[in-house]
Amino acid sequence: MIEVLRKIVQQVNAAEGLPEALDIIVERVREAMGTEVCSVYMRDPDSGRLVFKATKGLNPLQIDVASLAPGEGLVGLVAEREEPVNLEDAESHPSFQYLVDLGEEQYHSFLGAPIIHQRKVLGVLVVQQVEKRRFDESEEAFLVTMSAQLAGVIAHARVTGEVGREALPGEGASTKVKGIAGAPGIAIGTAVVVSPSADLFTVPKRQVEDRRGELRAFREALNCVRADIQAVADNLGSELNPEDHALFDVYLGILDDSTIGAEVVSLIREGQWAQGALSQVMIEHIRHFERMEHSYLQERAVDVKDLGTRVLAYLQESAMEERSYPANSILVAEELTASSLGEIPRHKLAGLISVRGSGNSHVAILARAMGVPTVMGAVDLPYTRMQDRELIIDGYNGTVHLNPPAELKQRFQEALDQDRALLRDLETLRDEPCETLDGNRMPLWVNTGLMADVTRSLEQGAEGVGLYRTEVPFLLRDRFPSEEEQRQIYRDQLEAFAPRPVTMRTLDIGGDKSLPYFPIQEDNPFLGWRGIRVTLDHPEIFLAQIRAMLKANEGLGNLRIMLPMICNTAELEEAMALIRRSHREILQEGLTGALPPIGVMVEVPAAVFQARALARRADFLSVGSNDLTQYLLAVDRNNARVADLYHALHPAVIQALANVAEACRLEGKPVGICGELAGDPEGAVLLMAMGYDILSMNSTSLPRVKKALRTIKLTDAQDLLAEVMLLEDTGEVRARLRLFLTEHGLEQFIHNPVG
Ligand code: PEP
Ligand code: MG
Repeated sequence: MIEVLRKIVQQVNAAEGLPEALDIIVERVREAMGTEVCSVYMRDPDSGRLVFKATKGLNPLQIDVASLAPGEGLVGLVAEREEPVNLEDAESHPSFQYLVDLGEEQYHSFLGAPIIHQRKVLGVLVVQQVEKRRFDESEEAFLVTMSAQLAGVIAHARVTGEVGREALPGEGASTKVKGIAGAPGIAIGTAVVVSPSADLFTVPKRQVEDRRGELRAFREALNCVRADIQAVADNLGSELNPEDHALFDVYLGILDDSTIGAEVVSLIREGQWAQGALSQVMIEHIRHFERMEHSYLQERAVDVKDLGTRVLAYLQESAMEERSYPANSILVAEELTASSLGEIPRHKLAGLISVRGSGNSHVAILARAMGVPTVMGAVDLPYTRMQDRELIIDGYNGTVHLNPPAELKQRFQEALDQDRALLRDLETLRDEPCETLDGNRMPLWVNTGLMADVTRSLEQGAEGVGLYRTEVPFLLRDRFPSEEEQRQIYRDQLEAFAPRPVTMRTLDIGGDKSLPYFPIQEDNPFLGWRGIRVTLDHPEIFLAQIRAMLKANEGLGNLRIMLPMICNTAELEEAMALIRRSHREILQEGLTGALPPIGVMVEVPAAVFQARALARRADFLSVGSNDLTQYLLAVDRNNARVADLYHALHPAVIQALANVAEACRLEGKPVGICGELAGDPEGAVLLMAMGYDILSMNSTSLPRVKKALRTIKLTDAQDLLAEVMLLEDTGEVRARLRLFLTEHGLEQFIHNPVG
């Protein structure tokens, strides 16, 4: 059964658009269940009616003609109840209703299952039979499983179909795809699809004028791969027996195979670019081999994939050299990476869309720091078909608009202009202190990682660095940076901000941040080898980093060291002992300088409950609310599917934040926060009221937070906190905070959807 399900899903996945997908479903489900009829009804998003969309067994002329109102007939009942209806004799059910001309009079038994995606009923899948009988449990379970599996695929196919319909810019076929807010702001621009290097399965389709150039590139890439393989064969020549050697010939033969090469060439001649043509042909052949019964032939799929990947790598290399980006480029990728952001000149980059990931993925954090509007987790976006499409991104609400009509574009343009005016307005605050109306000073620091953050941060009036993510320079290399390389990088940061304090976090890898040269493969990476756990297990990495930091601090004295993912006192003591040892060694080597303050990041619930014990041992605490939220709520910060449950303003998180502040107050130690919540005007108001000494945020958020705090009184924020602490629901918390902003004339920080 699993095999049948898998095959159907696979076939539906490969469909070009919704009608084709639905045709495959009705045909294959009818066949698999041995019924006489299988049909799909889809809910029309505007009218809510259930429209007869595909059938095997009923009258196909009624497709797109027949429909039922919500709740009408048995199909309407399935949709309304959101559960299957299984009837031996459909006619005797009170909800039964004939749809004229469908030709269903003769079918007595009825089994319908709702198709539900992201909690919304998309449609209903129905099977019918002449024989009066109740479908048995296993049949019902099959249909329910089928429709649950197909829901996502159908949602995807629907958007794919809409995108596929060619629309003139600004006309018709406008589609809205829901994702997750990644970085605030609006962008109107042109899609540029970036695919991970040499992945045959994610190459975008693209039409080109210069067919000759593409043909030439393809032939050159083929020759390069031939030469590479020949070189490997020659190198191994003496060590291989003739039989093994023959394998290389077979391998090369695949490339020379007139069918594969010729198919690619003919697609290029039709106007497809070389990478797209190669990927299409290779995927067909890989699937063909995978379907073969014989295991030897199935293995050929691996060879074909390997060869195709090699050719693609050469094609991408030459395309990279020539790539030019349009003004207002919106990068679209299945999974955005920090390095893909680095490939495009900043002045051309208007926005980002990632199909995977969530608002708290590290790439989203980077995008916020760069001030680039971003939508994450746009799972239904057919991203490979987006090249050169006109798009609008609403990074406040996490939506993407494809082929926007002129009127919608106009409204977004107005919102964008308002944003720009607000930014200009905020710039005037740069040299003003962050002080409430009743005279409370609130230090605003920044989070950094890239060197580019430094200039931006200083421009925004940052008073210090609350989190320097040292893993960023590690992520941008192909090996661990040496102690001296690190010293230079850290020195640049410390010097740029001196005499302002710079808090350097020791290497925080693992989770969703894995170094290409130090891969960590785990079933549960966020609960695994992460942060301090890795560096305590590798003291050589930890010590080199600490020594580099201490040396960089020579003569400046503005370094603070912070430890990520601490979950017990032993880890803290062990790390502190290593830091003290490094410091002693440095002094023995003739350098000077006091031991810098050492802090603990509160990122796991255990650290909240042990905040006093940790504060007693350390010089300061800083809450990493991004991780703390994910661990308190058991919601993966990187997973689009559960992103709706990730609430940094959940009453439990608010309670934990207040507890940490109180623990530090009792121990007489300063407490800061460097999670994204600090950069949210609503969050900042609450945190100030709780007694946080430092709010550290991405530099883009700093002017907004400053504006918000300068507009209110500390006493008003404290009254608000007292009220919020009594609320038991995230929605109520959010509504109360929004009301507070509105009451204080700060509604410009509330962003309702434009369209
Ligand atoms: C956090 O977890 O809140 C934090 C600041 O660290 P990062 O986002 O880098 O995990
Ligand atoms: Mg963290």
